[in-house]
Amino acid sequence: MNSLCFVCKEPQTLTSEHIIPQAISGRLKAKLYCKVCNDTFGHALDDEISKQFGRIGTRLNIKRERGEPQPYEVKELTSGIILVFDGKGLKRKEPIVKITSSDGKKLDSANITARSEKELKEICTSIQKRYEVSGGMETFKDVHPGPTDAEHEITIDNALLRRAVSKIAYGFLCIKLPKDVVLSSPFDAVREYIKTAKGSALACANFIHTQFMTDHIRPLHKIHIVLNRSEKIVVGYVSFFGIYRFTALLAENFESKFEWPGLDYTFDPVRLEQVVGNDNFRTPQLTKENILRPKQSKEFVLSELHKGHKVIENYVVNYKFLGGELC
Ligand SMILES: [Zn+2]
Repeated sequence: MNSLCFVCKEPQTLTSEHIIPQAISGRLKAKLYCKVCNDTFGHALDDEISKQFGRIGTRLNIKRERGEPQPYEVKELTSGIILVFDGKGLKRKEPIVKITSSDGKKLDSANITARSEKELKEICTSIQKRYEVSGGMETFKDVHPGPTDAEHEITIDNALLRRAVSKIAYGFLCIKLPKDVVLSSPFDAVREYIKTAKGSALACANFIHTQFMTDHIRPLHKIHIVLNRSEKIVVGYVSFFGIYRFTALLAENFESKFEWPGLDYTFDPVRLEQVVGNDNFRTPQLTKENILRPKQSKEFVLSELHKGHKVIENYVVNYKFLGGELC
């Protein structure tokens, strides 16, 4: 049966949609968008979330509905060696093979650091084929304790990511408000932004006004939507793993005929369960400027990210201690 798509507003068959992408363990689903919308922008926006934050899901060994945990590269701080973490352990991205041969034919020595016994044998065999082997081969095992002593780069804000955040906040709004309200004109701008990136960005990485999205113990996903009556704006707050936090402007010049409570969804992606939000909580009354151009210094953002990553590492250790099955 055809129904109006929440983005293009065309009567279409709607496909089931994860509001928070399943690559980071999202489980909340609804039929919101048509196939055309999903093909032209939906998948690309979801993929950006997976690309940027899927690695944290891998670190936490979260259960995905589809697909494998996303392996990611990290750089060992002391040696600068690039390692790959696949959810179970760290491996070098490449084996290391050091060969010395004085005449290019005869092998004087080979020093190999392989990532498995099998790979070691393969490398040895190929060296033996290529060179006349006279000297012995020396091998040793390369052990990496865990990703805590490694670093990797992550983007916290880019054009695609901002639209992906708007899509998540808007998706949640779609299932919470009456359809005629969501499809009304104050929400046209956010639809256009999600669909085509037209106009200025309507979401922003925001660590200043989003403290309430972290509980400093668990890496929770959160979507929170409020109506600011005095400013006539609808504001979306989105957090991934309690670390990466954004604000999104969902509507301007919006007048509601009815009272809203704060609309809240909090989800624990490790235990795969919804967490009860605090009903009495009131978000700060933000202006458009606070939402889209928060005044936050680089040092402040880095310290917030650092705190968030500590929560993840502690959670991994404690969850394992409690008998959970984390890596
Ligand atoms: Zn559509």
